[in-house]
This record gives sequence, C-alpha cells and structure tokens, in this order.
Amino acid sequence: MVKYKTDVVEDGREYDVWLAGKEEMGSLGKKWMKDEVFHEVISWPLEEKGLGPDGVWRLGDVVVYKDAKNRDFLIEHGVRHLLGQHHE
Ligand SMILES: [Zn+2]
Repeated sequence: MVKYKTDVVEDGREYDVWLAGKEEMGSLGKKWMKDEVFHEVISWPLEEKGLGPDGVWRLGDVVVYKDAKNRDFLIEHGVRHLLGQHHE
C-alpha cells in the first residue's frame, strides 16, 4: 500500500488516501468488509475523531484500488463514508 495523498474536506479536516493492488484490496476486503466481494474502495473513519496533538483534525483513511478507472470518484465516495454520509 502506498500513500497517494493527504487532502482536506471543506472545513479543513484531513484524510489520507492510499493506493493498493488487487491482492491487497482482496485481503483488506475479507478482513474489514467480511465478504468475498472485490471492493475498489475501503474507508476507515478514525475511531476517536478529534484533534490530534498536532492540532490537525483527522477523519481517517481511504484505500482505493490502484488500477481503478474512476479513482477520483471512488475516493470521493470513500470520503463521504468518512463523513458519515452513507447511501440513500
Ligand atoms: Zn458506499
């Protein structure tokens, strides 16, 4: 897994985006999503949201499949999950 970028949402809260290969996405999916579906994006909100000692407010991490065609869309989707916005 390699770091892709650190970005911020409108209010300045920060999140990290990581890129992972197919096998890695597969094992992350098994471990965290508890299924055999291939997920192109998986996100983890930080368990304790809030200001870190450095004064930066972190939302969590988004891992996206490195060869996904619609990478930006997937990242946006993962960030929405970090913000607690789920599917309608
Ligand atoms: Zn979703």
